[in-house]
Amino acid sequence: MRIVAATQNKNKLNEISMITREFGLGLVSQADVGLGDLVIDENGSTCEENSYIKAKAVCDILGEPAIADDSGLFVDALGGAPGVNSARYSGVHGDDASARKMILKELGDLPWKKRTATFVCVITLVYPDGRVISARGECRGHISYEEKGTGGFGYDCIFIPEGKRRTFAQLPQEYKNEVGHRGRALQKLRELMNRE
Ligand code: IMP
Repeated sequence: MRIVAATQNKNKLNEISMITREFGLGLVSQADVGLGDLVIDENGSTCEENSYIKAKAVCDILGEPAIADDSGLFVDALGGAPGVNSARYSGVHGDDASARKMILKELGDLPWKKRTATFVCVITLVYPDGRVISARGECRGHISYEEKGTGGFGYDCIFIPEGKRRTFAQLPQEYKNEVGHRGRALQKLRELMNRE
């Protein structure tokens, strides 16, 4: 079965493709099917709503199954911010570098035990017949005191997963795929699809 990944974010797409390679999903990107310029208004207030909005929009246009990822970083000391606004926290959509600086500044020298955060990813699969499967993955960790590492993308260089001393941007990609929010959501999605 071919499934269209409703995302313009190349980094997310790379991770989703890597993780789902062994699932045999037949994933193609939005750009592959001629929807590279499609902009979808993500006006939901949760990751569940936004991932459904994106997958449904692409499924409706193509009449084919589509999955979408909505993700974000929820920092406890900031009341859960940036949360669903992770892509536009700095005021400019997609400016993750400014958003990271803002978070580090807002946390200042807050002690380690108060720097807890959760990476959340919700993957929703929408079928043309109206069926919807949604799976949430979470990864707990801490916000570092400074940016560290060159791997990954977005907030990876300020997020240290539970039990580790290095950020996702310093750790191997395979490790992130296994314990990270996106890997966990996709594994759950796979289990739910197998139950259908
Ligand atoms: P959205 O899901 O398109 O709303 O964007 C989520 C925001 O969180 C973007 O700014 C991403 O760069 C960031 N983000 C999502 N997943 C990850 C991740 O796995 N690592 C680092 N940043 C992420």
